[in-house]
Amino acid sequence: MVGGALALALATGGLAVTLVDRTPLSAMAAAPYDGRASAVAYASQRLLAQIGLWQLVEHAAEPILDIRVSDGASSLFLHYDHRDLGAKMAGAPFGWIVENGAIRQGLAAMLEAAPAVQVLSQVRAERLTPGDPLAELALDDGTVLAAPLVVAADGTDSRLRGQARIAAVQWRYPQDGIVCTMGHEAPHDGIAHERFLPAGPFAVLPMTDAPDGTHRSSIVWTEREKRAPGMMRLSDAAFGAEMQRRFGDWYGAVRVLGGRWRYPLRLLHAERYVGPRLALIGDAAHTIHPIAGQGLNLGLRDVAALAEVAVDDRRLGLDHGGLTTLERYERWRRPDNVSLMAATDGLNRLFSNDIGPVRLARDLGLAAVERMPGLKRLFMQHAMGTVGDLPRLLRGEAL
Ligand SMILES: Cc1cc2nc3c(=O)[nH]c(=O)nc-3n(C[C@H](O)[C@H](O)[C@H](O)COP(=O)(O)OP(=O)(O)OC[C@H]3O[C@@H](n4cnc5c(N)ncnc54)[C@H](O)[C@@H]3O)c2cc1C
Repeated sequence: MVGGALALALATGGLAVTLVDRTPLSAMAAAPYDGRASAVAYASQRLLAQIGLWQLVEHAAEPILDIRVSDGASSLFLHYDHRDLGAKMAGAPFGWIVENGAIRQGLAAMLEAAPAVQVLSQVRAERLTPGDPLAELALDDGTVLAAPLVVAADGTDSRLRGQARIAAVQWRYPQDGIVCTMGHEAPHDGIAHERFLPAGPFAVLPMTDAPDGTHRSSIVWTEREKRAPGMMRLSDAAFGAEMQRRFGDWYGAVRVLGGRWRYPLRLLHAERYVGPRLALIGDAAHTIHPIAGQGLNLGLRDVAALAEVAVDDRRLGLDHGGLTTLERYERWRRPDNVSLMAATDGLNRLFSNDIGPVRLARDLGLAAVERMPGLKRLFMQHAMGTVGDLPRLLRGEAL
């Protein structure tokens, strides 16, 4: 998703792009490939609109109007209401929940049709040889591509990152993310719930209604790594009962719609995002815990920053794949990625346990934040991705 979005952004900025993926775009757009829905932050939506993708996914996007965070069975919770955002943002949602399948379908349609993008699928990027003025990228079918800039958007286990000998700090959380879509009796009213349970956060995210009117929400259920396979083996009825046990009768009767997916949860941060004629973006540069639904959003912010520095330098007749350009990208993105990575990791550690004193302290913390409107508003702006020195695409401006 991140690499595809960058290809479209660069194409709107006048660059010719070749996109290489080992998996066909049509297979990635098919339902079984990815059962997740993503919380697309307010600023990320502006980027998607600028590259023309939002217009294709809007029908599948449900606005997030309200976020409620609670700690286990405790009644204490943080409540973020979009109406508290202030006059300047009146009526704006925090973001939208969009099925990844819809994003992937929109991307596939746009990438196949974009005259400036050549798609090579079912081939792997194998070996990168930097050079001046062009780097060479060898594919596993014998093709060799030459370009001033190679971007690795090849995910957490990035082959190109390894090839460039860029080290990464990384660990596996002892947790898996179980994902499914839930049909429910009562409407969700645009509310996203996150409940912190001892095994990890349990999120219920509002989705658009199904064509037959069924109310739907996406579940991201963090479970202990050892227990997750057992949960996956439960019948739909038993799994539905387990879900219901975790959020009571808020949604009325519930049932699982379609399949279930399990994702091992990891953290990874590359020591550098750039090398000679190479830039890392998305999960290839940084993979974070899904506790705050921000991994894709960080990747889209990489897209906005890298597209801006590359397109601007190209317009000035400068070498847009040179280290001076790429280092500007890295300096722009690293602080934001590091702070979100630290925050999500810290939150997961603080909340994924049932230790009495820790629980008391965090509940006092939640209660304190709830009483501080200024701090709450800042948290809301962070969730929307509207804080800091934003590239043009994230401000809703053309490249
Ligand atoms: C349970 C869960 C819930 C999440 N929820 C949210 C959310 O609500 N909001 C949010 O912002 N983020 C969320 N995320 C994070 C988000 O899904 C990821 O950050 C995002 O999908 C990363 O996209 P990417 O394009 O960088 O990497 P990937 O999706 O890993 O894509 C890498 C691509 O590279 C290709 N590839 C790999 N190696 C090669 C090679 N050698 N040659 C050619 N092609 C190759 C692969 O086929 C793939 O298409 C969630 C993550 C999880 C696990």
